[in-house]
Amino acid sequence: MSLGHEVEITGIRKIFGRGDATMVALDDVSLTVEPGEFVSVIGPSGCGKSTLLKVVAGLYDADGGSVSIGGQSVKAATRKKLVGLVPQAPALLPWKSVRDNVRLPLTINPRANAGRSLRDPDDLLTSFGLGHALEKFPKQLSGGMQQRVAIARAFSFDPDILLMDEPFSALDEINRDQQRLGLLDFWQSHRKSVMFVTHSVPEAIVLSDRIVLMAAHPGRIAEIIPVDLPRPRTEDAYASDAFRDLEGYVRRRLRAVMEEATHVR
Ligand code: ADP
Ligand code: MG
Repeated sequence: MSLGHEVEITGIRKIFGRGDATMVALDDVSLTVEPGEFVSVIGPSGCGKSTLLKVVAGLYDADGGSVSIGGQSVKAATRKKLVGLVPQAPALLPWKSVRDNVRLPLTINPRANAGRSLRDPDDLLTSFGLGHALEKFPKQLSGGMQQRVAIARAFSFDPDILLMDEPFSALDEINRDQQRLGLLDFWQSHRKSVMFVTHSVPEAIVLSDRIVLMAAHPGRIAEIIPVDLPRPRTEDAYASDAFRDLEGYVRRRLRAVMEEATHVR
């Protein structure tokens, strides 16, 4: 099983606007995600989480620093389809069936698919509990189901790196928990390097090897918190003392970072 490539983010700076309206969205952000590592990014809104993912995905150019993916530039890595992105909104094509939405990445730049373990869209959708919805169209599905289709689509072409921007944020708590345990299960059997943005502390803990806590104004890394809970994890993980201790710690640190942000303003 390929554990994917590492992502090496070095001194990334990203600025929006100019003159008086200049704002530093990312200031000297450095982070290495190891092959097969699950890293969550958490922090107050506006601290640059989405911007960071977009820089790694090649959707934004940085104003300083560099990103390398398995030793290659972002451009080369995206050309080779090494990176899969699950955006905050599912962004499915409404005129295509669920199956065709998931098949889509397989049809784009097929030469880059050589040597991969491409997944059959039907099998993949079945493993995400959507075997009954193959012929349906996105608008016939609930928000949670659409989000699962978007995740299945990102897995379909076997990218080494998965970038997920708050994929469960639109879901209610029960669905959300089910989705996150489903993702945990799937990731534990198909390891990839993952950068996962979330607002939820328990979600970050249950999924991650490390949690990157960001602060705002300027957007930067405040602390990197290791999650030393045994794997494979199941929903039982929530009940352990170690989990609760860590949850308390992350919440305190997050609160401190948010208070600091309101003082700066
Ligand atoms: P987060 O995802 O952590 O909530 P974002 O990365 O979306 O934060 O945004 C970080 C900061 O950069 C915010 O102040 C936001 O308003 C600003 N920003 C993000 N994208 C753009 C853009 N395309 N143009 C101008 N400002 C932007
Ligand atoms: Mg965001």
